[in-house]
Amino acid sequence: MAAKLILGKDVSEAIYSELVDRIGALKAKGITPGLAVILVGEDPASQVYVRSKDKKCKELGIESIQILLPATITQAELIGKIEELNADKSVHGILVQLPLPDHIDESAVIKAISPAKDVDCFHPFNLGKMVIGEADFLPATPAGIHQMILHSGIETAGKHVVIVGRSNIVGKPLAVILMQKGKGADATVTVVNSKTERFAELTRQADILVAAIGRPEYIKADMVKEGAVVIDVGTNRIPDPAAKNGSRLVGDVDFEDVKDKVSAITPVPGGVGPMTICMLMSNTVTAAEMGVSE
Ligand code: NAP
Repeated sequence: MAAKLILGKDVSEAIYSELVDRIGALKAKGITPGLAVILVGEDPASQVYVRSKDKKCKELGIESIQILLPATITQAELIGKIEELNADKSVHGILVQLPLPDHIDESAVIKAISPAKDVDCFHPFNLGKMVIGEADFLPATPAGIHQMILHSGIETAGKHVVIVGRSNIVGKPLAVILMQKGKGADATVTVVNSKTERFAELTRQADILVAAIGRPEYIKADMVKEGAVVIDVGTNRIPDPAAKNGSRLVGDVDFEDVKDKVSAITPVPGGVGPMTICMLMSNTVTAAEMGVSE
């Protein structure tokens, strides 16, 4: 039987329609959610991300504040800008587009963002709240994956989830989210990394296998269990002479090899990709709502 495709577009549309209602309710109280995005330097990939966030804010009726700063800015100046935004009541979310130039300490910059406006959920305070199950925000990509699981009606309670990759932005927080008590969680979670022994032995045990590795088409059919759910977070650009721009996007999972063995799978592109920005918008609206209830 062909695997069910879990599409980020479908899940994000459902979330956006709820967000439109929540934004309407805020506006009725005279509050327009505001997201400030700081871009340091002119990295082309970062510019694309910042533009797409700006576009989505505008579509939803969120105030988008873009702050473009030169790559030569000092860390103290950047933190000074963040402090201004922390104090600005019209700004509910602050996001610093990463990576930053080498002379700036990313960790110090993230810690300068007020936790109440940390819509990326990278601040240690918010990560700590997530670990103890008291999160205001969840990091966008793992939160998006969680929403895909919930919206698809995939059972997680008692299931073995194997997450390949332990990054601070995907693997680790997703493990925490899925091991919590509650709906869409209660899973038994294994997180594997590049040093893991008997890798395929573990991935083959997964009822839900999440690949967040950054290696094109690494996961093959012999690494997955029959009927498993596969979530492919990878976004890897590989050369393709047949493609218009000479390259194409593939995931960390070999989709063609795996698709007839699994019960559901997220394709790349079109799977997890659209969820990250969706959850960022959701966190911004949550931050604005938190401001109202203060
Ligand atoms: P990352 O920080 O580079 O982490 C990769 C992780 O994979 C590391 O923990 C690494 O292990 C592990 N790994 C690498 N090779 C492995 C192997 N052969 N076996 C087992 N584990 C291995 O990556 P990331 O930021 O989490 O991103 C992962 C992928 O997701 C990338 O393709 C990225 O572009 C994509 N991504 C997509 C979205 C989206 O919105 N769709 C968002 C974020 C990331 P070690 O820790 O031992 O090195």
